[in-house]
Amino acid sequence: MRRGMTGRAPSSIDVLIVGAGIAGASLAASLAPWRQVVLIEAEDMPGYHATGRSAAFWHESYGGPGVQPLSSVSFAWLSEQGFLSPRAAINIARRGEAARVDAFMAAFTARGVAVERMTQDEIAARVPGIRAPWSEAAYEGACSDIDVGALHAVYLGAAKRAGARLVTRAPLSAARRVAGAWDVSVGGDTIRAATIVNAAGAWADAVAARCGVASVGIQPYRRTVAQVRLGCPVPADLPLVIHIGGEFYFKGESEGRIWLSPHDETPSAPCDAAPDEMDVALAIDRLQSVVDWPVAAVERKWAGLRSFAPDRLPVFGADPRQPGFVWCAGQGGFGIQTSPAIGALLAAQLGAPPPEGAIGAIDPAPYAPSRFG
Ligand SMILES: Cc1cc2nc3c(=O)[nH]c(=O)nc-3n(C[C@H](O)[C@H](O)[C@H](O)COP(=O)(O)OP(=O)(O)OC[C@H]3O[C@@H](n4cnc5c(N)ncnc54)[C@H](O)[C@@H]3O)c2cc1C
Repeated sequence: MRRGMTGRAPSSIDVLIVGAGIAGASLAASLAPWRQVVLIEAEDMPGYHATGRSAAFWHESYGGPGVQPLSSVSFAWLSEQGFLSPRAAINIARRGEAARVDAFMAAFTARGVAVERMTQDEIAARVPGIRAPWSEAAYEGACSDIDVGALHAVYLGAAKRAGARLVTRAPLSAARRVAGAWDVSVGGDTIRAATIVNAAGAWADAVAARCGVASVGIQPYRRTVAQVRLGCPVPADLPLVIHIGGEFYFKGESEGRIWLSPHDETPSAPCDAAPDEMDVALAIDRLQSVVDWPVAAVERKWAGLRSFAPDRLPVFGADPRQPGFVWCAGQGGFGIQTSPAIGALLAAQLGAPPPEGAIGAIDPAPYAPSRFG
């Protein structure tokens, strides 16, 4: 064990969480008051991979109707704790895509999501310079920016105060089931744990394999974001403008600057993802088909991996075939905004009390790994 320990890890613990991104951290925060928890992270710092590379929004319809309940019930806690700031979203479409906007409105209003149809004038008032074909939109006023760094730090702090230990530069390399528990090789040490939670993001299937557990088919996909300086005034509070068919999104970053993505989904092996110049060029090309804003400079660009199960729903709960092995994976492009719900619901399956309020009313069955047989 290398860093981040206030002492050596105990030789036998209740729950070993593999991965200290938002998934592992949120679970640790909810579980540590009730179970002895160690959180191991392969990198020098927690949050180096997907969690540190997000576009940092809470967008209730994002991820589709199957994900929306987890996002919806997470909103109140994120808001009460001060992690959200107002943004609003315009789910935009071309004139010929009006039927898609209608279908989107029908699907989400039926689920209690506050969405409103926008007129072309209303779109133009919120997005100055919008080009004529982009005349259809559904407005979601609740869309917010998330302070991801603060949220992640609060989860880790709460876990630590409740007695959890975070160990960085500590990759799980192998695990064996011995006498009803796990002997886990972490660096040069062995930790004995009753339960392993696989919160390894893009590496979730690789971690399962190292434990001798069959994969559930978690596939990472690269997603690119660029921070662009514009040659015209665009307000910092520009809403999230997101194509209803998934071709692009952009949102205000500061006065005259936006974050922009071509909504790329390039299959990737688990890795330290880097942006591809072609994806940045594609993002700018798509932006210029939507608005008449000149691009003055690309100031920053980055990429990260969004990891999905085959049905694109998150996977959390006990593995149906391997006792003591629990999944917390497949959070795709919505792992930050759903983390309060997933952390609390999974903690309840591992010994924490059931969550109160709206989160406690969620049925976790659709997200159970047993759906893969
Ligand atoms: C460009 C981009 C934009 C996004 N925008 C949003 C957004 O606006 N809103 C939103 O809600 N979500 C967004 N997401 C999705 C969100 O970032 C992810 O769903 C979330 O961060 C996943 O968290 P995680 O903890 O599962 O993964 P990660 O943050 O990747 O953490 C997994 C950790 O496991 C560690 N690990 C791997 N193998 C081992 C091992 N063998 N031993 C120990 N540790 C190991 C890794 O080092 C890593 O730190 C975005 C993602 C990307 C890439």
